[in-house]
Amino acid sequence: MKALVLKQHGGSENLAIEDMSKPSIGSHDVLVNVKAVSLNQLDLFVRRGSPALKLTLPHIPCSDAAGVVAEVGAHVKNVNVGDRVVLNPGLSCGRCEFCIAGEECLCAEFKIFGEHTPGGAAEFISVPSRNLIQIPDTLSFEQAAGASLVFLTAWRALMTRARVRAGDDVLILGAGAGTSTAAIQIAKKAGARVLVTSSSDEKLNRAKELGADILINYKTNPDWDREVYAKTNKRGVDVVFESVGAETWLKSIRSLRKGGRMVVIGATTGPRPQEEIGFIFWKQIEILGSTMASQHEFRDVMKLIFRGELKPIIDSVFPLEQAQQAHARLEKAEQFGKIVMTI
Ligand SMILES: [Zn+2]
Repeated sequence: MKALVLKQHGGSENLAIEDMSKPSIGSHDVLVNVKAVSLNQLDLFVRRGSPALKLTLPHIPCSDAAGVVAEVGAHVKNVNVGDRVVLNPGLSCGRCEFCIAGEECLCAEFKIFGEHTPGGAAEFISVPSRNLIQIPDTLSFEQAAGASLVFLTAWRALMTRARVRAGDDVLILGAGAGTSTAAIQIAKKAGARVLVTSSSDEKLNRAKELGADILINYKTNPDWDREVYAKTNKRGVDVVFESVGAETWLKSIRSLRKGGRMVVIGATTGPRPQEEIGFIFWKQIEILGSTMASQHEFRDVMKLIFRGELKPIIDSVFPLEQAQQAHARLEKAEQFGKIVMTI
């Protein structure tokens, strides 16, 4: 079968199309004929490699995938051959105390599809059946593949971890990120007022179309934390949705009101920020980590996407053969929303 493979860690020149053997499936697995995948920051992390990440190379990347069921294992009941499906990219053991409690993303064996296991950038993938849900005809494969990881991540981070409620001020950093386009919509739906930052007025205007209320250009306004303070009547925001990391960490904390919550889903500019512990105890803030989501959170947020109440924002669509160009667009942060590749 045709597959995109990472031959060794490093730049995008290490990505190539190759002929790989079709995966076999176990009795609880489903073989999916993939139609579309999408890129996440995670794909750049996997491509570049890290000492903690031990992969068998060549590796098939991509966590997000949607397609058509081609074959089902003997014990699979929830999907049938021919169904259009999207996958939850979080893999868990299904047996431990956290999985039994419905908190699969706390499983000690938690893995992410395409990071720790072969991913979706191929004609066929094998997926545990419980990780699949059927998608309605109104949703394209491109939209489905562009939805799951960013929406489930933003949903758990804002609704479960940061407990966003009506009336909250929520600050979202970097308007163009896929997670931000999801977070803006989720926070608005919860009744929050949304503040968003970007270096581009064009991206800020697109964020406004998604519902963002207060737009801050951090390029023309490098002291954007003061702007947040001013726009909230010197109060600060209730919640910061933080994915940038080292570059924004201190300003994010400064933007919070006393007793505010900062939910951290990633660190694209690096994991070692300058820290001032005094802010944490004096302002009595909560710093909350969040990674992926549990099966029930995945299903909760996808239900709203299926009803058209939350919309996957697709920036661009590339054929799999142009994976290097797709990676370059994400790496230069040119996108607004999701970069999708079709198989
Ligand atoms: Zn488990």
